Amino acid sequence: MIDFLANFSAQLRRRWLYGMISMTITLGLIMGTPRPAPAIPIIELLFRGIQLIQLSNMSDSQEVSLGSRINQQLTRSELKLYSDRAVTEYVNQIGQKLVPQSDRPNIPYVFQVVDMDAVNAFATMGGYVYVTKGLMKTADNEAQLASVIGHEIGHIAARHAVEQMRQKALEAGLASAAGLDRNTAVNIGVELAINRPNSRQAEFEADQKGLVNLERVGYAPSAMVAFMEKLQSQRSVPTFLSTHPATGDRIEALNQEIDPATANSGTGLDTAAYRSKISSIR
Ligand SMILES: [Zn+2]
Repeated sequence: MIDFLANFSAQLRRRWLYGMISMTITLGLIMGTPRPAPAIPIIELLFRGIQLIQLSNMSDSQEVSLGSRINQQLTRSELKLYSDRAVTEYVNQIGQKLVPQSDRPNIPYVFQVVDMDAVNAFATMGGYVYVTKGLMKTADNEAQLASVIGHEIGHIAARHAVEQMRQKALEAGLASAAGLDRNTAVNIGVELAINRPNSRQAEFEADQKGLVNLERVGYAPSAMVAFMEKLQSQRSVPTFLSTHPATGDRIEALNQEIDPATANSGTGLDTAAYRSKISSIR
């Protein structure tokens, strides 16, 4: 009996030793060739409590919850939201009017005003749209503001932020076959929201979607072009133009889509009414 056990444990030890040797050889092979480090097995990541996200196949609810986490981090550490309830509610009303006529009406949307004088607007993912109070002050009327909001909804509808995140994660070698760690995804999302311009192609697509959305709701389509032209003519280049490249070409593309006969028909062109809505913005 004792003999048997001793023999058994010797066998185990030997197997363990062989295991170690073969692992060392495998590691040597991996280290010797310029291959990426082996991905951490998914089981191990699960044990560590890390939630993985599949960027190429993200469900709506995953995207919304990721957007919410990105929003939390953005508003906690990067952006100050504008505290005026009436102004925020006004922007939200315009947004909620656009959503049902957008290409992606089936997720919840949150529209927020950023307390910043720079003229800018951006969207993350999962329904989170931001406009600065500087942009609101620069717009001449509600239709111009709505054109920007519609454009940002267009980015969300086309899932541009998800695609940008996927590209960024791949470039940086952060995603494994199993997916991307959720906390890393949130950090990338925050960085993209603040620093990374969209591609020309994404801009054109968001413009097209925004324009259609604007028209469906009944706003005058000319407002979208008018606002871009206004930004272009400003003495200091607004941030919005650096985060939204190719303005000249975008204006040209939009003008081809807008029928001159009905360009100004629609609502939202009343400047005085708009100014009174945003009069509390300092
Ligand atoms: Zn854009």
